[in-house]
Amino acid sequence: MADTLTSILKKLLNQPTAPFHEYHVRAQIEQYLLDVPNVELSTDAFGNLLATYRKGKHKSTPVWALGAHMDHPAWVKVPGKTDEWEFLGGVPKNLVEKKENIALRKESGDMAPWGFPVVFEDGKVHAAACDDVVGCAIIVAVFKELSRLGLDATVHAAFTRAEEVGFLGAWHLGKHWPFGKDAVFLSLETSRPVNGAEMGDGPIVRVGDRLSVFDHELINVLMRTAAEQGIRVQRCLLDAGACEATALQACGIRSVGLSVPLGNYHNLDDDQNIVSEHVHIEDVKQMINLIVALVATKHDGLGERTLEERVNLRMKEYKKYLEIGNAKYEEMTA
Ligand SMILES: [Zn+2]
Repeated sequence: MADTLTSILKKLLNQPTAPFHEYHVRAQIEQYLLDVPNVELSTDAFGNLLATYRKGKHKSTPVWALGAHMDHPAWVKVPGKTDEWEFLGGVPKNLVEKKENIALRKESGDMAPWGFPVVFEDGKVHAAACDDVVGCAIIVAVFKELSRLGLDATVHAAFTRAEEVGFLGAWHLGKHWPFGKDAVFLSLETSRPVNGAEMGDGPIVRVGDRLSVFDHELINVLMRTAAEQGIRVQRCLLDAGACEATALQACGIRSVGLSVPLGNYHNLDDDQNIVSEHVHIEDVKQMINLIVALVATKHDGLGERTLEERVNLRMKEYKKYLEIGNAKYEEMTA
């Protein structure tokens, strides 16, 4: 068996996908996870694919629910029309409708994604839909790695639909949260690196997106785990786009995000040409390592002191100073 990360990426990235037409990606994920020990699969009413790895009684605090979306901006057939196409997702209409760009689409049944091949080159993978099929591949790799190591852990995952037209799958997930009260949401995305983030410098701990800022304590758990594991991460506000953590948070689920830096976001290069997207494989690997450590560690009493502990220590350290200052004030106002 032993599917390597390369083969998982290749197989998944080769599946055509579009908003509402995620079935090929989904079938491939199911095939990967179906026979992984300790993994259970199900589907919610919207068609999001849900998975849980559960072995032993061990639970991390908090319990993590990983999320990645299976769709990508692409052409789809207009409902009820046989030869009319519409582009779904956040790419300017005047660009996608250019003649030379329409020639780049590759028809596949009711959808027509950009027809770029999957290419591995110079430590990068190039493909039509890194966003967010790479996120889906990361979850598959994490589940397989947990199972290979036989780790005691509980972790959930949601492979969502129709993110590119306004988080429809994620919204359903948040409104019908299937993972219990102690579970929090970790959005796994590929994102345009902004505000100092760089391609190849490691996964990004996403403190927020264009629409909201994420859970402070969860950001700290991510940062602490990365430090403990010696994994280099970039801590950034990625506000060039929005991610599913914003949707889940708006539904009342505590949320945070991790992003793999993405080149040619939504298939646009610096000159507004339609091209393939790419990510650095090393960034992907480090993200997998970080998530495995995250779900396999209890976090209680590990790492740095909490802010409360630190302030209490300072309070003790400076007690005498405080008393002297207080006495002076008493004297003056007596
Ligand atoms: Zn995305």
